[in-house]
Amino acid sequence: MECKIALIPGDGIGPEIVREAKKVLDRTAEIYGHTFHYETLLMGGCSIDAYGEPLTEETLAKAKASDAVLLGAVGGNVGNSRWYDVAPNLRPEAGLLKIRKGLGLFANIRPAMLYDELKAACPLKESIIGDGFDMVIMRELTGGLYFGEHKTEEIDGIRKSTDVLVYDENEIRRIAIKAFDIAMKRRKVVTSVDKANVLDSSRLWRAVVNEVAKDYPEVTLNHMLVDNCAMQLVMNPGQFDVILTENMFGDILSDEASMITGSIGMLSSASLGAGKLGLYEPSHGSAPDIAGKDIANPIATILSAAMLLRYSFDLDREADAIEAAVAKVLKDGYRTGDIMSDGCTKVGTTAMGDRITENLV
Ligand code: NAD
Repeated sequence: MECKIALIPGDGIGPEIVREAKKVLDRTAEIYGHTFHYETLLMGGCSIDAYGEPLTEETLAKAKASDAVLLGAVGGNVGNSRWYDVAPNLRPEAGLLKIRKGLGLFANIRPAMLYDELKAACPLKESIIGDGFDMVIMRELTGGLYFGEHKTEEIDGIRKSTDVLVYDENEIRRIAIKAFDIAMKRRKVVTSVDKANVLDSSRLWRAVVNEVAKDYPEVTLNHMLVDNCAMQLVMNPGQFDVILTENMFGDILSDEASMITGSIGMLSSASLGAGKLGLYEPSHGSAPDIAGKDIANPIATILSAAMLLRYSFDLDREADAIEAAVAKVLKDGYRTGDIMSDGCTKVGTTAMGDRITENLV
């Protein structure tokens, strides 16, 4: 297969972690007989330095013309006046909003899984962790409360604020289809999370999800109220496969789910739109405090590259191989500083990328 991949290393540790993910992608292409064509693009602070803005139209057009985008992270120390003493739309992070909008991404996927070897980092009791957990949270990204009308007014001396929560059935249907498609690649269970006992938008959500489910007879669909889901994530996380939910609920639940995995350096993510084009990135930021020191954990970015192969190119076997190589390296006891524990071998960013590359089969 021939694929065009846009690489956006960004700022801080971005270039180091994307370099390691590319190393892994190159070796995967070699083993499985694919050709990946890369184009490296500037976004964030480095684009401000080069072009005076965080994402130029030309760069966005190049990202759109690719089959998938792998992003490191953007942004720097807020004390960096060169990047931050400007209008918000000219700061590094504005590039992120612009590229997500420009690529029409409406579904965010964050996996939360617990590696056996990292169980000690999980804040839950062993009796709750059991055999571990492996779920993805699919969050709607472009609708709901965050995008409805917001206003604050003063009526008869009393301040009053309103935020409007709107979803139409098409917005719900398109993300539900993505969730069921992803469930078909996994354990085939979708838990749709809403607040249908109170909200009309949730009742519509539930109705449309039920309609979509009819096209996926192999997938088991459960509905769960959001307050119960927040409890279940810390009571019995092993029950979840794909959690499908709207924007604000997903914002909160995906952070909760990521915390129970224990390490920020391990968390990958994908944002998908209507076609196959997606944006893949670690869930963490640019970590300027550790940039250039060869100590950043590249695994979140490497696992994001695995998601890129799985969701943009349907290369499931290759994605499985990358995930297995990561698990093997952890099993062999190699750790970057952020996930280091007694008896393990501490390695830097480059060495971790090398170990994972060597273990690809
Ligand atoms: P951060 O995620 O960059 O760092 C938080 C802490 O986690 C730091 O101590 C950092 O050293 C550590 N850390 C993060 N990634 C790590 C890794 N791979 N390996 C080891 N340790 C890691 O969050 P922050 O400090 O709040 O933000 C720093 C910059 O990143 C800011 O400019 C912020 O705006 C930006 N940011 C960008 C994105 C993105 O590009 N998607 C997301 C979040 C924050």
